[in-house]
Amino acid sequence: MEKKLGKRAVILGGSVAGLFAASAVEKSFDEVVIVDRDRLVGVREARRGAPQARHINGLLARGARAMEDLFPEITAEMVTAGCPITDLAGTVRWYFGPQPLRQTRAGLTNVAATRPILEFHLRERVQAMPGVRFLESHDITGVEATPDRSRVIGARVQPRNKDSAEQVLEADLVIDASGRGSRAAMWLESLGCGTVPEEQEGTRIGLGYGTRHYRMGATDPFGKDHSIVSVANPMLPRGAIFTKTDGGKLELTTYGILGDHPPTDVEGFNAFVKTLAAQEIYPAIVDAEPLDEPVLYKFPTTMWRRFDQLPSLPDGLLLIGDAVCTPNPVFAQAQTLAALEALKLRDHLTDGSIPRAVDYQRDVAAIIKPAWDMTTAINLTFPGVEGHRPPAMKLLQRYMMKVTQAATLDASITEAFMRAAGLVDPLESLLRPGMVWRVLRTSRVAARLAG
Ligand SMILES: Cc1cc2nc3c(=O)[nH]c(=O)nc-3n(C[C@H](O)[C@H](O)[C@H](O)COP(=O)(O)OP(=O)(O)OC[C@H]3O[C@@H](n4cnc5c(N)ncnc54)[C@H](O)[C@@H]3O)c2cc1C
Repeated sequence: MEKKLGKRAVILGGSVAGLFAASAVEKSFDEVVIVDRDRLVGVREARRGAPQARHINGLLARGARAMEDLFPEITAEMVTAGCPITDLAGTVRWYFGPQPLRQTRAGLTNVAATRPILEFHLRERVQAMPGVRFLESHDITGVEATPDRSRVIGARVQPRNKDSAEQVLEADLVIDASGRGSRAAMWLESLGCGTVPEEQEGTRIGLGYGTRHYRMGATDPFGKDHSIVSVANPMLPRGAIFTKTDGGKLELTTYGILGDHPPTDVEGFNAFVKTLAAQEIYPAIVDAEPLDEPVLYKFPTTMWRRFDQLPSLPDGLLLIGDAVCTPNPVFAQAQTLAALEALKLRDHLTDGSIPRAVDYQRDVAAIIKPAWDMTTAINLTFPGVEGHRPPAMKLLQRYMMKVTQAATLDASITEAFMRAAGLVDPLESLLRPGMVWRVLRTSRVAARLAG
């Protein structure tokens, strides 16, 4: 029996980060209350509060492992429920240019599900936890602090039926998992913490995601593969992820940056798909049975709120998930980061104390930084994205292009690259002398073969 650290924890937001957080805290409090403006329990469709759920939301290999750590056996449960398993280096066909990467089974597995179905399974598990309850259809309106503003002691919520009054949920710990729209920066400012700094370099990417679902037609582009991923690059700044998903469906998200967005009329959407490096996607969708109309999600900027850089923070309020950082979604990092942040919180609690806010937000920043640096460097490979490009970054960008070029011929380079991109290994693993030599040698051969 684990030691209880308090009577109640309140989690603001019942989406993926909130559900991960619930798993982390459930044993440490008598009661855990998850507040959300949407109805959540039993929901299997995209919700108003999480419109990104209409688009592809994959977990990186590290995230899949972290999710399994937070929710043991969830992968097997989802597979039994009809979600396919994918291997990021072995059954995903990656295009970083005209040639796909060489594949290898490297154990970088992951369960594929549409985002609402992932959320549904996580929520079922959380719902079954004793002491956890959902407070649905409630707006989060603020936090309550002690008179000296040194500690947050509750959250203010209001039923969406506006005739009902605002109420205070007292709590020993409040966790803000309310996503990018979180108002925590404002709350902290009003508590005298100052303005929360935000990262600026390479954030204005002007991304647009267009997504449509299908049932496979006569043209099967997958063969033995599970997904086809065409990654945008400076020569062709458009990409797509086309994947088999739960319920035997196909999910296609295609994207463009700096305002070059997929149209939502079918003709325009298909024409956009026709321009991708992965030429096999277009004939497959023309042949497939569409299950819905294309929908667009605009993502003008990435965002990292540096709560860790504030000189002080009130204890009793911790921030997690998209409320802190929304990196470029193309690289599928955010849910993985949220899972790792939840595991870090669980570690603190099982050590026997609620972490001080400053310590925890520094931990969160340390989790985010390698992923943020990696994808910001990629954002800045596009000449139109504003930001400073120090010489070391330019060198890394050139080297990473050689990595993906070399991986079209050498599966061991694909594996090393996918381990780093999947946050399983640090980026430095690609910079070891033996690997650098291999990459440089093989990329020269690949360049020669490409003419
Ligand atoms: C287009 C797109 C594609 C993405 N693709 C990927 C991907 O492939 N892989 C990946 O790892 N990540 C991806 N992400 C990011 C991923 O969706 C998020 O990291 C994930 O949803 C977890 O975020 P979260 O739980 O912190 O916040 P959210 O999912 O935004 O959830 C916030 C929750 O808080 C509730 N809420 C917010 N404000 C209030 C309020 N005032 N009152 C009451 N309730 C409130 C909302 O209803 C919602 O349920 C993508 C994001 C976008 C936009």
